[in-house]
Amino acid sequence: MHASTVSDTDHATLPSDSVTPLPDFATRLVRWQRHSGRHDLPWQVRDPYRVWLSEIMLQQTQVATVLDYFERFTARFPTVQALAAAPEDEVLAAWSGLGYYRRARHLHRCALIVVETHGGVFPQTAESLATLPGIGPSTAAAIAAFCFDERAAILDGNVQRVLCRSHGVADPVPSTATTRKLWSLARSLLPQAPDIAAYTQGLMDLGATVCKPRQPSCGACPFAGDCRARLSGDPQRLPLRRPTRKSRPMRHTVMLWLRQPSTGLNWLERRPPQGIWPGLWSLPQFDTAQQALQFAARLGQVIGHQELATVRHAFTHFELTILPLRVELQARPGAAEPQGQWLDLDEATRLGLPAPVRSLLMQPIATAPLPSLLQG
Ligand code: SF4
Repeated sequence: MHASTVSDTDHATLPSDSVTPLPDFATRLVRWQRHSGRHDLPWQVRDPYRVWLSEIMLQQTQVATVLDYFERFTARFPTVQALAAAPEDEVLAAWSGLGYYRRARHLHRCALIVVETHGGVFPQTAESLATLPGIGPSTAAAIAAFCFDERAAILDGNVQRVLCRSHGVADPVPSTATTRKLWSLARSLLPQAPDIAAYTQGLMDLGATVCKPRQPSCGACPFAGDCRARLSGDPQRLPLRRPTRKSRPMRHTVMLWLRQPSTGLNWLERRPPQGIWPGLWSLPQFDTAQQALQFAARLGQVIGHQELATVRHAFTHFELTILPLRVELQARPGAAEPQGQWLDLDEATRLGLPAPVRSLLMQPIATAPLPSLLQG
């Protein structure tokens, strides 16, 4: 691009109150998708169960990771009936590692409603799909477009980026006003029904493979000639992010990994349905190492203990610094706490576990005895 072109066309970014659709946007995108888009993803079928699963998995996870989980998940739960019939623990275990466990709980609840209220058949309109747990308007539209050819608009993060750039929408995101404007633009661009599946897939493909957050491959884009962000000379500038908030607050916890060396059993507890990692099995947490050791002493005689390397885990609204404390003990017969139980590692790793807990439990166990409490 010539330097003069850049400065001449800085005004190509439109004022915030008007969005003029690019000519033939849908036609160009559909043509591009048929020629250059993705066609071999395992959820590219007219089966609402598989499309729904993939859409939920893809909400916060990259395609490359989802591919693996999707295959295993659908092998284990091949139909919505199989998913609904499974205990929640089994669903959480199959989801384990994908994170954002509320998605898995919603998934299970949604499967139950589809089976119990809709006779095992997914509703066929975006409007009715959006009434199900965990299905927002964009996911509902994707299912309706792919499976039932409904002219319904999607607007996930990738699509938002493509629309902001191609149409030069320079309003800050996230914001209610910008979202409303983008929904309206997304609806105005829809093609006729026969092309809706290719169009919807095209938007997803373009956002994921060409119009990437950083260094978009504009040369491969069907809108390269008139994309308003590209003409402005700095496509990456859009979407315009609101000034970032202060860094996430930090929280600390001591995680107690209590183990009986004589049996190899580990103490795990079921987390409450609210809060972080709802309903998952985890190691008990404490504010201090002393509290953790006092708890351990209620279950048996502590033989030794060791602080392991600190682990950092990021949540949406805060970061958690975990200090793992491995404690070996001789369990006292009959000693128990209502919220937990002793499990061997095989049993434990088959449960839904938070990712950092799973990694901890998979660490090789040192064979040398831990330093005695009496020494330390
Ligand atoms: S030309 Fe570049 S910035 Fe514009 S939509 Fe295409 S990939 Fe994105």
